[in-house]
Amino acid sequence: MDEVTLCPKPRFLVIPWPATSHMIPIVDIGCLLAAHGAAVTIITTPSSSQLVQSRVDRAGQGSAGVTVTAIPFPGAEAGLPDGCERTDHIPSPDLVPNFFVATARFGEAVARHCRRLPTATAAHPRPSCVVAGMCHTWAHGVARELGAPCFIFHGFCAFALLCCEYLNTHRPHEAVGSPDELFDLPALPPFEFRFARRQLPIHFQPSSSIPEDRHRELREFELAVDGIVVNSFEELEHGSVSRLAAATGKAVLSVGPVSLCGAAAPPSLLDSRANSDDARLCMAWLDAKRADSVLYVSFGSAGRMPPAQLIQLGLALVSCPWPVLWVIKGADTLPDDVNEWLQRNTDGSGLPESQCLALRGWAPQVAILEHPAVGGFLTHCGWGSTLESVAAGVPMATWPFSAEQFLNEKLIVHVLGIGLSVGVTKPTESVLTGAKDGGGKADADVGMEQVKQALDMLMDGGADGEARKTKAKELKAKS
Ligand code: UDP
Repeated sequence: MDEVTLCPKPRFLVIPWPATSHMIPIVDIGCLLAAHGAAVTIITTPSSSQLVQSRVDRAGQGSAGVTVTAIPFPGAEAGLPDGCERTDHIPSPDLVPNFFVATARFGEAVARHCRRLPTATAAHPRPSCVVAGMCHTWAHGVARELGAPCFIFHGFCAFALLCCEYLNTHRPHEAVGSPDELFDLPALPPFEFRFARRQLPIHFQPSSSIPEDRHRELREFELAVDGIVVNSFEELEHGSVSRLAAATGKAVLSVGPVSLCGAAAPPSLLDSRANSDDARLCMAWLDAKRADSVLYVSFGSAGRMPPAQLIQLGLALVSCPWPVLWVIKGADTLPDDVNEWLQRNTDGSGLPESQCLALRGWAPQVAILEHPAVGGFLTHCGWGSTLESVAAGVPMATWPFSAEQFLNEKLIVHVLGIGLSVGVTKPTESVLTGAKDGGGKADADVGMEQVKQALDMLMDGGADGEARKTKAKELKAKS
């Protein structure tokens, strides 16, 4: 009997939730499984397949066992515009329910695809495990038909999932009188956390653009799966991994930081979406700066501020003494006067002597954070960005926008001591939380002085600043 029949390769079906920031780590997880000898099929949609494939290619030799399969996304049937296949393509909150309808039909197409898989052989066994993005509730049925276990990947850290589990079980947010009233969330004693309801993820908001029955389905899916995969590591979670396993009764596998799987690749390959000219420009600009002197500012794959808020942030950035690398999303939708202000006050061409480099496209974030010139990160606390900052040993100033980012802020600032809060209390609306104009007409909640003070503390915070830096370096080593 040959070795293959004795021990067939495990085969994984990996189905990313179609949002850029979810796809990045789950594709990396697929590549890591392949690097450990598994056969991996990543199922995606046509407009994301190139993004997925280039992420796979970036992982190099180790990802040879990965196949990317594109299955058509029935967006038009569900009333979505052409090419709308990812959450970041949804043009308005009104279309969020349509997007969920389309993803449910996509699930039916995936199930049909799986039924047509060729008869299993020793060399090509049927999938032995499904790993699915958090809103692909139908994946559990697909896994059961295949006779395989189903693992969920939320993209959240274990601490945030533990908080969500506490909220689902004890529902303290329902006892408050207003969305601003603070309540206790004692999910990880002895740490004490207080939140306002409006700071919680969308499924704990009284009204959102996601229909109620979808929320119910999402919860049923979470309860039905066999285990949870988190892009994190034990030392970062202060016991949240085992507490989450105990609270849910499920296996919780912490497999991160998965961004390190491409760490040996050159910067131009570190992020397949980064235009290589932009990547080169950023790296050359950083090369001209002193070690630990640069403040990196970015709010994730899609984070946009109302124009008035953006100007307050901009005033703080251009007046601080450190060189700033500022990634601005949605610049094409900003009013003309704001764009003119940006043009006058920032540099887009990467002159080595410029103090504020503004990048309007996709930044090679992992490479930027790893650059020795970067000394601090102003972040929206998305988990991907948080973990990339941890892996690079860079302390953070926290400005949560939405989703589970206010939960992550507590982990960064109060549990890990590697960041300080800018002091933002209100979420910044996005298409999924329902603001029709992306909060475009809103006033600035956070003034320039408040931002400046936090950045001063981050970059030059005396003994506290040194302590944050030391802890960040320790966590880098552990990661
Ligand atoms: N990212 C990037 N370049 C950009 C913006 C984002 O490489 O210009 C990556 C970042 O490295 C991270 C992901 O996109 O991997 C953002 O994920 P996160 O969870 O931080 O935020 P989200 O986009 O979900 O709000």
